[in-house]
Amino acid sequence: MLNYNDQKNWPNNFGNLQSPINLSTNDNQAFNDFLPINVDDFYQLNNEIDDQTTIRLTGMGNATIFNREFAFQQVHFHTPAEHLVDNQQAPFEIHLVHKDNIGQTVVVALLLKIGNANSAIQEIINNFKVGAENNVSIKLSEWVPNLAKGFHYAGSLTTPPLTENVEWVVITNPEITVSQNQVNWFMQQFGGNNRECQPLNERNIEYYANK
Ligand SMILES: [Zn+2]
Repeated sequence: MLNYNDQKNWPNNFGNLQSPINLSTNDNQAFNDFLPINVDDFYQLNNEIDDQTTIRLTGMGNATIFNREFAFQQVHFHTPAEHLVDNQQAPFEIHLVHKDNIGQTVVVALLLKIGNANSAIQEIINNFKVGAENNVSIKLSEWVPNLAKGFHYAGSLTTPPLTENVEWVVITNPEITVSQNQVNWFMQQFGGNNRECQPLNERNIEYYANK
């Protein structure tokens, strides 16, 4: 089991481009535009894999991100959020992992606020059984907003092996929310599973802040 109380000792053979980071709406190159991301109608989850420490769901569908085609691979969740925005921490962060034909990874992160329970997340919770793997059919197309705002930067995986050269799209205005009960369920089941913010170093962060 990954010990989030012992992050300093996670093996890290990589360098200065680690994730997550504290994102700033003031200090970055800002574009008066939306993030160029679209998902197709087939974007969905097919399989739920439960173990003691995480829920991971694999799926299908494609996303067009910055005019490049990526295949959706899997989704998993962090409570509380890993990325901060102006030092603020959201209660829940969704990671949608994608790969292109030559293996480039793009993670689309959704920072969720507390509000109405999300029905897809509730279905995932209801299906949960430690050690089980279930077929599911959960549509995800509504998870990614058509007019997404947020950040784009180069970082890493946030769990060992912490591999770099991962491209991040962090969406700050998802239309979906989670309920406090749903957040509580994840916290009780898995504890806090957010990696601490890493140094920004010499990175250029793009902020898509359509106004
Ligand atoms: Zn993650």
